[in-house]
Amino acid sequence: MPELPEVETVARDLRPRLVGATIVGARCSWSRTLRTHGPDAFAELVAGHRVEAVGRRAKQLVVVLSGELALTIHLKMTGQLFVVPAEAPQDPYVRLVLELADGRELRFRDIRKFGKVGLYERDPLTGELVAEAGGAAVFGAIGPEPLDEAFTVRDFRRRLRARKGRLKPLLLDQAFLAGIGNIYADEALWQARLHPLRTARTLRPADERRLYQAIRAVLAEAVERRGSSVDDYTAPDGDGSMQERLQVYQRTGEPCPRCARPIRRIVIGARSTHFCSWCQRLPAGDRAGSRAILRTMTRGAVRTGRRWSELAGEGALGLTRDEAARAAADAAAARADRTRRAAATRRAAARAAAGSP
Ligand SMILES: [Zn+2]
Repeated sequence: MPELPEVETVARDLRPRLVGATIVGARCSWSRTLRTHGPDAFAELVAGHRVEAVGRRAKQLVVVLSGELALTIHLKMTGQLFVVPAEAPQDPYVRLVLELADGRELRFRDIRKFGKVGLYERDPLTGELVAEAGGAAVFGAIGPEPLDEAFTVRDFRRRLRARKGRLKPLLLDQAFLAGIGNIYADEALWQARLHPLRTARTLRPADERRLYQAIRAVLAEAVERRGSSVDDYTAPDGDGSMQERLQVYQRTGEPCPRCARPIRRIVIGARSTHFCSWCQRLPAGDRAGSRAILRTMTRGAVRTGRRWSELAGEGALGLTRDEAARAAADAAAARADRTRRAAATRRAAARAAAGSP
């Protein structure tokens, strides 16, 4: 699912295309895409409004409209946005279309249909989005933006010290910090050399600072590289390149870039978690209660590698143990590479089907 860097990239790509454009109508073919209104009411309310700004809050796009209205767009698993001429052929996965006065359309394409678009009033004084005048703020429960200049290591420490949970679920909690999902939680923890099952209360001040710096560095690099185009994420100006820089995410069995030992995978709260059990040690105090989760550990190619090593030991393959382990790691890397290329082909097909270059 697109996280902070991916949604930020989509916002930046859309901004020059949409700011100043006037919406004249809307067509919706899957009413559950709309979070706040039925298709007819939605079309009537957005018509005539001009796009004033395109931004992001946490993992959602925020399209500010004239007349103190704003749209929120949550891409979820497979949401994609394209701005195309109205005459471009429309494929069946387009769930919502905003018709623009200049003959173009903003199309929301979403194969899995988990994406959501909301229409809210905007408080002219605070800029907060509210479901209705005087109501609760739409983003009221969301934590701070980790890349905000105003977000300091002191703020991060204060928030961490108020929490007792394990680091992986904590980083995914949008009330703790905004915009981090599975990819960048795993990457930041690896970079900070902290085990995903480590609890916040066992961190020393140096650990807290390393984690703060790792989160900001990983997210900033990902924004610069237009996000990680894994699975279905693509932006109006094309794919990102951060997937080539991910050190552990979806690299189970490949060598850790720091110590060359194989990357491990465990499941925490139904989410795949990738880490290096050598570089990211779990202190004894945090091991209690972790055993059930650690039993889910997948060693990927290591398991295969071990079998190969046994065979190598018996002389069956004519390989040394090291050669067998390398062969297994190469096989894992080749498998991962095939998956990545298949996804890239799918994204290119999506752009073509949406009538985008
Ligand atoms: Zn390592």
